[in-house]
Amino acid sequence: MMRVLFADKPENWPRYEAALNAAFVQAGLNAEIFQPGEVAPDSIDYIVYSPQGPVQDFTPFTRAKAVLNLWAGVERVVGNATLTQPLCRMVDAGLERGMVEYVTGHVLRYHLGLDATLAQQDGVWRHDGGVPPLARNRSVVVLGLGALGAACAQALVALGFDVTGWSRTQKEIAGVTCLSGADGFNQALGRAEILVSILPDTPETTDLLNAQTLALLPKGAAIINPGRGTLIDDDALLAALDAGQIGHATLDVFRIEPLPAAHPFWAHPRVTVTPHIAAESRAETASEVVAENIRRGEAGEPLLYLVDRARGY
Ligand code: NDP
Repeated sequence: MMRVLFADKPENWPRYEAALNAAFVQAGLNAEIFQPGEVAPDSIDYIVYSPQGPVQDFTPFTRAKAVLNLWAGVERVVGNATLTQPLCRMVDAGLERGMVEYVTGHVLRYHLGLDATLAQQDGVWRHDGGVPPLARNRSVVVLGLGALGAACAQALVALGFDVTGWSRTQKEIAGVTCLSGADGFNQALGRAEILVSILPDTPETTDLLNAQTLALLPKGAAIINPGRGTLIDDDALLAALDAGQIGHATLDVFRIEPLPAAHPFWAHPRVTVTPHIAAESRAETASEVVAENIRRGEAGEPLLYLVDRARGY
């Protein structure tokens, strides 16, 4: 019988126990799941992993054929020198829908000016006779067109927004103006009334949004960052907010999490902090992905969602 290690934080086991077992049965796998310490590491065939779990050193797992990350982001494991096994990231339908709902919700909030509406419940009837813009008059840019970014771009197109996407390699997504490369980046920023960044944390994406690049955005643009905190230079963003170059920022991810109570983002009147809740892997759907990858591993088929260790995502 195959041995699978559940190397997420122990609090998550109750969520995953039934889901993983059911998914293994569904996939026809004859597998038993163990917690760290229950069996010898060199008897484990696959590791279901999260960076919040107890495994940091993969050296003793000499038999493990793959490490299956429960998170989409891999920045906390991709550089682990003890990891010699293939590493797969999570692409999960639940994660994707969560991200789509978070992003479309905050884009609509900015598009409709909901913050001002909520702040103006004061007895004054402010209809100036103007016609508010429709989504098609609003340019939204999505940085990162991977599993999550592409789904968000498509959902924004379905709502009628004028959507531009940017990625490392050129994409084709119906209804989305797809750009790539350095020129594409500058072009994308120049048209971003609302900028959504869903890029991974890699050496190439660190501080991508800095004083120079924030200056390329149209004045008063809004930023939504559910990607990673390292994408934005915090001080540059605060300066751009104070100068009015950036109108508002909604930030879900930070260089230090939990975001320290004294961090200026908390108190800034034009920053919304959400506590890394944009999207969560859902146990049922994530377990199906894990089971399918183990089935593939056993059948000698290529694994899904393999991480390119050199690129970092
Ligand atoms: P993918 O790996 O599927 O997609 C990453 C995208 O980013 C790809 O389109 C890739 O381009 C692009 N990209 C990477 N590096 C560069 C670069 N240097 N220049 C331009 N484009 C680049 O990841 P996912 O969509 O699954 O997830 C994206 C990120 O979302 C995760 O890494 C994680 O950080 C974050 N996340 C946040 C969550 C939250 O709750 N806040 C939850 C889940 C994920 P190409 O396609 O050309 O390779």
